[in-house]
Amino acid sequence: MRNRRAALAAVASAASLALALSACGQNSEGGSKDDKGSAKGGTIGIAMPTKSSERWIADGNNVVKDLKAKGYQTKLVYGEDDPDQQVSQIENLITQGVKGLIIAAIDNKSLNNVLQEAADANIPVIAYDRLILGSKNVDYYASFDNTKVGELQANYIVDKLGLKDGKGPFNIELFAGSNDDNNTKYFFNGAMSVLKPYIDSKKLVVRSGQTALNKVTTLRWDGATAQKRMDDILTSSYKSQKVDAVLSPYDGISIGILSSLKSDGYGSKSKPLPVVTGQDAELASVKSIIAGEQTQTVYKDTRKLADVAAGMVDDVLNSKKPEVNDTQTYDNGSKVVPSYLLQPVSVDKTNYEDVLVKGGYYTDAELK
Ligand code: BGC
Repeated sequence: MRNRRAALAAVASAASLALALSACGQNSEGGSKDDKGSAKGGTIGIAMPTKSSERWIADGNNVVKDLKAKGYQTKLVYGEDDPDQQVSQIENLITQGVKGLIIAAIDNKSLNNVLQEAADANIPVIAYDRLILGSKNVDYYASFDNTKVGELQANYIVDKLGLKDGKGPFNIELFAGSNDDNNTKYFFNGAMSVLKPYIDSKKLVVRSGQTALNKVTTLRWDGATAQKRMDDILTSSYKSQKVDAVLSPYDGISIGILSSLKSDGYGSKSKPLPVVTGQDAELASVKSIIAGEQTQTVYKDTRKLADVAAGMVDDVLNSKKPEVNDTQTYDNGSKVVPSYLLQPVSVDKTNYEDVLVKGGYYTDAELK
């Protein structure tokens, strides 16, 4: 493209050059072309929640890669799980003149004002993975079927314990994600839709008595917070009993739960570890699954999610309607946000090779 532009410049008058450039698609707001000659331009701001979890690092990198391939520049920021920091980062992105925003919220209710600023500047907003609540200024939502994530975790527990074959009763403890993340209740409700009948029929017993969502959340998905809660539960409710399963919503939380269990002597022949679920197929947890500690995780291919989100912002900026596959589920209190939901996959020792290694998510060497 540079050569073509140089050649054009050499032969054309200023007026015909301007015409030629507009024919090539350079936009009137000064968006520049990339090296591949794409007719796009401008910068997209990407606000991710934290670098403390691998998945968000991969998400950020994948979104950047996809947007660059579409001819955009990118600014990627991480709010380190601090909602105020995320708000000011997004304000900065708006001030810097981004053309679009892709946001994975830390606190789903803290972004109202800043999204109004984005709307005033005519900047489309894609909610990434986590829905932003209470604002009409969310254009599209790219995520996974979050209810299904919880169902996969719970069904795994049901199968592993043999509950459908009438086995039991078993002891289970329940953990949920951060209460300021909209996904938390979808994961938890999805899981409870499967587990509750067994809890009601006493085939599953929650000895701590903590079954309501507001009793089992884990602020900012923090593994250490979960570990502390598991310690307390083991001390208060399992002096003479054994835990058979733990519903854990996320790999980082599962690691905390497993540490607590191991300090209490679980992990031996006479006191085996319970079934412990998870989410995200993070490297440490897949290794833990291979080593026989964590039992299951829910894999969400963040490469596909990044692709969907980048496509959405690109479509909106080109006045095209992004493809959606759900226009009912995600009501953010202000509107039902049109969504594209990808499918999560349950992974354990029996299928990690097929799903994660053959799927190109990890190499065998990384899992050693
Ligand atoms: C995501 C999960 C992730 C969790 C903690 C949720 O919003 O959907 O994939 O495990 O946040 O980062």
